[in-house]
Amino acid sequence: MRNLGLDLGGTNIKLALLDGGEVVEEQAVPTLSEHGGPDAVLRRMAELADSVGGVDSVGAAVPGLLDDGGVAVLFPNLHGAWAGVPVRARLEAALGRPVALINDGHAFALAESTLGAGRGAPDVMCIVCGTGIGGGLVLGGRLHLGVADRAGEFGHHTVVLDGPRCECGNSGCLELFAGSRAIARAAGAESFDVVVRRARDGDPAAVGALAGAGRLIGIAVANVLIFVAPCRVVVGGGVTEAGELLVGPLRASIAEHACVAPLDDIGIVTAELGPRAGAIGAALWGAQKAA
Ligand SMILES: [Zn+2]
Repeated sequence: MRNLGLDLGGTNIKLALLDGGEVVEEQAVPTLSEHGGPDAVLRRMAELADSVGGVDSVGAAVPGLLDDGGVAVLFPNLHGAWAGVPVRARLEAALGRPVALINDGHAFALAESTLGAGRGAPDVMCIVCGTGIGGGLVLGGRLHLGVADRAGEFGHHTVVLDGPRCECGNSGCLELFAGSRAIARAAGAESFDVVVRRARDGDPAAVGALAGAGRLIGIAVANVLIFVAPCRVVVGGGVTEAGELLVGPLRASIAEHACVAPLDDIGIVTAELGPRAGAIGAALWGAQKAA
């Protein structure tokens, strides 16, 4: 079986093709949502999908919230007017076949729990921290979607009471402090990559910004661990490229705050699939829905 996955990200549209459960092809093209908006982006996705020839299923991961009919509700990290765009219908019309849509945090969780750092564990909590922060919970080997597929919106966990307003309507959300752009802002740097470079050179503001973000992510993880007690936690996304500068404080924060959780039995690990996880998860999702 050839299962195609697409991952619509703020920077790139990625493709992964699975054959018999193994990744046999990968591609990426720039999203360029600032050029042509949703119409042009959906056309680029369809062209990319067409480039691999015949497949048995198609799944697509999207960076935001959808309604039941596959219509975009909120895609905060893409340019253009996405709210109300019938994403699934447009992709299905362009490709002439069913397309299963999945939130990118869920796609990450499905990929890492099936083929990555969570494989073999029945209950896995997955968090992906990039520009935005999302995730998913796998319980008893199955992705937990929740009502209206809204489970796993980890970035909108309140970590600062009466904090700044978030696009979701809440204030003090984790994403506002621990997303890659927020970390850059806190360190007074132009990008997250610059923060990591400066931190490795010992710059205190950069080290502090990464550690602060790690601590806040750790508090949010600790809250879920206390409640769910999964056997493994997988942390991934661009911000984990800072390595121990961020993951060290994250672990320390979990140890400090999740006192009642059985921490000796909960493995806290970093993701294995890197930036391919979303496309691989989308391919797995498409395969599940087509079965
Ligand atoms: Zn929020």
